[in-house]
Amino acid sequence: MSLRGHSLAELETFFVERSEPRYRAAQVFARIHRLGARSAAEMTELPAMLRADLDEESAFRGLGVEHRAVDESGTEKFILQVPGEGAARRIEAVWIAAEPRDEGAQDGRRTVCISCQAGCTLDCTFCATGTLPFQGNLSAAEIVDQVYLLEVLRNQRASNVVFMGMGEPFHNYEAVLAAAHLLHHPDGAGLSARRITISTAGVVTGIERFTDDGQPFNLAISLNHPDPHERVGIMPHDHRYPLEDLLGAARRYTRESGRRVTFEYVMISGVNMEPRHAGQLIEITRSMRSKVNLIPLNTDVAGMRQPSAQEAVRFQTRLVDAGVHAFNRGSPGREVGGACGMLALDRTLS
Ligand code: SAH
Repeated sequence: MSLRGHSLAELETFFVERSEPRYRAAQVFARIHRLGARSAAEMTELPAMLRADLDEESAFRGLGVEHRAVDESGTEKFILQVPGEGAARRIEAVWIAAEPRDEGAQDGRRTVCISCQAGCTLDCTFCATGTLPFQGNLSAAEIVDQVYLLEVLRNQRASNVVFMGMGEPFHNYEAVLAAAHLLHHPDGAGLSARRITISTAGVVTGIERFTDDGQPFNLAISLNHPDPHERVGIMPHDHRYPLEDLLGAARRYTRESGRRVTFEYVMISGVNMEPRHAGQLIEITRSMRSKVNLIPLNTDVAGMRQPSAQEAVRFQTRLVDAGVHAFNRGSPGREVGGACGMLALDRTLS
C-alpha cells in the first residue's frame, strides 16, 4: 500500500498508530510531494529503522518506466508500469515541452498529461485508448506518481498538469480529486488550482458532483460535436448523457463556480467541421462563459479524415469572427504517438 496517495491527515494517523511522532507525517509528505523522494532510504531525517521498515513494506513503491520516446520539440511520451498483484498494468503519460502560444500561455510551460485509468470504458470512435482492454482505475498514488516520476526523469518541475491521458476522470472521481488536491497542497507540489485541468468526455453526474463540491480546478469538457443528434455517432455514451443535459450541467458549473469551462473539440473532416457545426458551436459558447480548444484529429480511423491546415483555419476563423475564444492546440507529440487520442501503448510510433 503506497503512502504516496495519503493526505497529510492520513499520514498523521499512520505514524501515530505506529507510535511515531506526529511530525513524521509532515516530513514524509514534504519529501514525497515537494522534494520528489522515491524511496524511504532517501528520507535521511527518518530513523534508520523506520526507513528500513517502510522500504520493506513498499510504502513508496512507484511506477516503472518501460519505454520513452521524445520528439524534436522535447515532448516525450512514456509507457509506464503500474506494479501490483500479478502482472504490472501499463499506462502512458506525456511530458509536453511547450504548448502553442495562446492568451496567458508563457514560454517554457511544461505540462504533464496523466492517465487516471488503465484503458477506458468509453468507446469514442476516434480515440485509440478505447480499443485497449480496460484494466481498472488507478489510485491517487499511481496518479500523482506519474507527475513525480516524469519530473525526476526530465529533471524539471512541471508547471501544469492535465488529466487528459488514458481514462475518464469522472469514472474514477475520488482518486482523481484526491490526486489533484495532493498536487495542489501548499506543503507538496503546490501547483495552483488554475494549473490543474480535469477533462471529461461529458459524464454529467461527475460534472454535477464537481460543481457541488466546489472544486477549484479547471474543468474541460470534450464536446467534440455540437449537434444533439449527431454527437452520439462519435461518442456513444451521449445516449446516457445527452448533449442537452451535458450543456445544462456545464452551464450550472460556470454559474456556480464563476469560472469558464473549456470545450475541447476534435476536428474531424467531414464529420463536425461544416459551417452549420460552427454555427451550433457558436450558439453553445454564447450560452455560458467558455473557450474552445480545437484539436486536429490525430488517429487514423476508418471513415474519418484529419482536416487540412486550411480547413482547420477556416473553421477556427468562423468561431473567432463570431467572438468565440477558440485556439488550435495543434498536436504536440504526434510523431512519438503521444498526442491526444493516440495513447494505446504502441511502441512502434517512435
Ligand atoms: N476521457 C477524457 C480525457 C481523455 S481524452 C476526455 O474525454 O476528456 C483527452 C482529449 O483528447 C479529449 O478532448 C478527446 O476528445 C481528445 N481526443 C481523443 N481522441 C483524439 C484523436 N484521435 N485526435 C485528437 N484528439 C483526440
